[in-house]
Amino acid sequence: MKLKYRLQDLRWISAIFIIGTFLTTLIGLPLFLYQFGSQINWWLHGTMFVGMFIASGLSITLGYHRLFSHLSFKAKWPVRLFTLIFGATAMENSALEWCSDHRRHHKHTDDDADPYNIQLGFLHAHIGWVVFRPIGGDVPLTNVNDLKADPLVRWQHKWWGVIGIAVGFGLPALIGYLAEGGIGAAAGLLISGMARQVMVHHMTFFINSLCHTLGSQPYSNSCSAKDSWFMSLFTFGEGYHNFHHEFQHDYRNGVKPWQFDPTKWSIRVLEKLGLASNLRRVPNETIAVAEILEKQRQLDERLSGNSETICKKAQRLFTEAQEELAAAHETWEKSKKEYTHALRQQIDTTKEQLGELKQQMEQSVLELRQAIRDWHNAHQGLVLQLV
Ligand SMILES: [Zn+2]
Ligand SMILES: [Zn+2]
Repeated sequence: MKLKYRLQDLRWISAIFIIGTFLTTLIGLPLFLYQFGSQINWWLHGTMFVGMFIASGLSITLGYHRLFSHLSFKAKWPVRLFTLIFGATAMENSALEWCSDHRRHHKHTDDDADPYNIQLGFLHAHIGWVVFRPIGGDVPLTNVNDLKADPLVRWQHKWWGVIGIAVGFGLPALIGYLAEGGIGAAAGLLISGMARQVMVHHMTFFINSLCHTLGSQPYSNSCSAKDSWFMSLFTFGEGYHNFHHEFQHDYRNGVKPWQFDPTKWSIRVLEKLGLASNLRRVPNETIAVAEILEKQRQLDERLSGNSETICKKAQRLFTEAQEELAAAHETWEKSKKEYTHALRQQIDTTKEQLGELKQQMEQSVLELRQAIRDWHNAHQGLVLQLV
């Protein structure tokens, strides 16, 4: 589809705000610092900027995204209230509107109904969709009815603009004023208000643009989402976007223990403090199988274009490992389903039957893990043949 923006679809207030804050940060802030930099307390404004950036950015990734959009964990009201207030300071709409757009993005990734469809170009996915109304007009908020049940979410939906301006811009200006008078107020407004908000804006926009452009696809190539450790560095861990699109309800985006994902670590800290619970995790085996299927697809692609003869033994071992894995995966899925079903129907199941089903499930997971190891060995054997 060829995209053509129409002037009548321009959201004037959003466009003026986004361009205005961007230009003020780019030009006004350096001029201000050149003129008055020696008169302000850099420790105060540096600390306030970092604090506000983390509070605002994390409220988007941990709150708007993983908590409200994906329900990847449950949070007590102080966490919901904090992320709703500081999420508003990012000036990216109310949580309800944001989550509605984001749920449509996951449901229709790369299609016309995806609000930030990367297939319509990098600029559209980054910022065009924010400043122009969708071609068919605004979409009703019917996919966030579950969130409307939360009074805090309803309150924030009504007042997010006022909260965003008061806390995101007014508060740093007030703190600056109390510490240093008029110069401090201007510094607070420009540094922790505007520059911080512009940085959070583009950090979030990059997840929609660059995270669908740059990086690898270790879990699936069914959509444009990519994994990038580099992007994760300045998106609070959201750079592992290929994993996220494949397993959107997992509270982690950087699922491997070594992957940089401050949002997942913050959720775990909240769990330790008793403020978060029910953290949703995809089983390791399911993740390993997804990675294997993607590797297998890449290998098939490589083999189809390879005219060299491959050692028959390595090929046979690989085919056997593939079959062993498929069978073990099926058995595991089946025994998992039987056990969960029996747990739900406790009245009709004896303790012994339940124990037996649990044992079967535990045995099948061991077999699946072995099949995963065998597959990796056979895969390595075959890949060495191709080098
Ligand atoms: Zn995405
Ligand atoms: Zn998401």
